[in-house]
Amino acid sequence: MLKMLDILMEDLTPEQLQKLSTFAMKYKDPKEINLQEAKKLIVDTGLDIEKMQKRARKKRAEEFEKNRKPKVGANELCLCGSQKKYKKCCRNIPIPNKS
Ligand SMILES: [Zn+2]
Repeated sequence: MLKMLDILMEDLTPEQLQKLSTFAMKYKDPKEINLQEAKKLIVDTGLDIEKMQKRARKKRAEEFEKNRKPKVGANELCLCGSQKKYKKCCRNIPIPNKS
């Protein structure tokens, strides 16, 4: 969740951050925030929630791809079965960009 917030923060202008932190200070307990207020805040700050969510999803997908990469030592045989060392084989193949 914190990571998600970090991603969202990158998209914000200083003014938007200011407004958000003022809002956060007003409600120390997140449970006190009602939907109406939250919606108003989003309109006030001009947040593009859809764009931010898209970006967050993309980032998560990228991280997933990164973690999926097999962990092979550079001098071990490559997992693809080429009988070549990993460093001379698939390590040099970039992950395809699906976007
Ligand atoms: Zn290979």
